[in-house]
Amino acid sequence: MSTHFETNSIRISPSKSNQKEHSAPLYLTSSFTFDSAEEARATFADEIEGNIYSRYANPNSSDLIQKVCSAEGTDDGIATASGMAAMFGSIASLLQQGDHVLAARSLFGSTHQLLTRVFPKWGITSTYGDISDFENWEKLVQPNTKMLFIETPSNPGLEIIDLEWAGKFSKAHNLILVVDNCFATPYLQQPAKWGADIVTHSATKYIDGQGRVLGGLILGRADLIKEVQFFTRHTGPAISPFNAWILSKSMETLGVRMDRHCSNALKVAEYFDGTKEINFVKYPFLESHPQFDLAKKQMSQGGGIITLDLKGGLERAQRFIDKLKMISVTANLGDSRSIVTHPASTTHSKLSEEERQQVGITNGLIRLSVGLEHFEDIISDVSQALDQSK
Ligand SMILES: *Cc1c(COP(=O)(O)O)cnc(C)c1O
Repeated sequence: MSTHFETNSIRISPSKSNQKEHSAPLYLTSSFTFDSAEEARATFADEIEGNIYSRYANPNSSDLIQKVCSAEGTDDGIATASGMAAMFGSIASLLQQGDHVLAARSLFGSTHQLLTRVFPKWGITSTYGDISDFENWEKLVQPNTKMLFIETPSNPGLEIIDLEWAGKFSKAHNLILVVDNCFATPYLQQPAKWGADIVTHSATKYIDGQGRVLGGLILGRADLIKEVQFFTRHTGPAISPFNAWILSKSMETLGVRMDRHCSNALKVAEYFDGTKEINFVKYPFLESHPQFDLAKKQMSQGGGIITLDLKGGLERAQRFIDKLKMISVTANLGDSRSIVTHPASTTHSKLSEEERQQVGITNGLIRLSVGLEHFEDIISDVSQALDQSK
């Protein structure tokens, strides 16, 4: 439609009813009717386009997919009931028994569980590589390696993986490159541009942006998405039309919300950088981030998440959290409300102590999802909590 993200995420709207409504209607229906037995046959046979059943597709999920594909620069996609259904579906549909996944060690906690504890049950194995050690990844590729699975920036370590490197590496070894683009969103970073074959999302986070619904997305190359569609049609992780409708509406404001998340997060990160109460603060667009230049190369802004390690370890981190007055203590992120999380005891508690150490999740680590409140109020809350938790 347009070449601009803002316009497309508002104006792409394929589903109009005959009521001439301005805002997209909600199609709360499990199935769709046919005018004749012949139309039913031809639709099932893929000879003509048309909705059949909401486990396959629904106008609300199609709306959402078109908008996000336009933003990511991908051919096609599938919307799922949650981010994890998308992570699971992208791997389960494209691999088979005996295949091997090479993955970055820094992954969302449940994705880590999938690769470590779920897929081995069906003979799909994996190896983790360290982001700081790319020169040695060649050695981790096995004859049966079929997929490279990465997340950048990573959760919660905010490590940046060079997408250009990942694209070339995958091509050279004939691997399907899957990138979980949840933290950056397509507004800040488009992995397909660098060669990602599949882009996954937890739409629960920034795409919803207001902490209301769960949703996931698997987007990518048409031939691969065909495989994914076959899998999701018959295994049933479909998104509800209501959630797809919410998420499609949310796409309309993603750009302006991300602008504010990013400018607020930079200000909060700069505030922490100037205090003596921390061992470190990490934010992709803070010059002190070890991969600042790489972040600038592949992201248009730094995102809404910052991590910090407070002096005083676990006890200090918990005291700090308990002293916050406005910022919510909850496991979600990407919400309009600022959120604090202690990964070691919550989102990443299922990892062993050693696994946590390997991905830099110290006991004092705090993840702050910077919301859309006025930045002065966010800084004032963290500042009083720093004082009160000494
Ligand atoms: C939250 C999250 C997921 C899982 O998404 P759900 O919608 O909670 O199932 C996957 N990857 C990342 C990076 C996440 O932050």
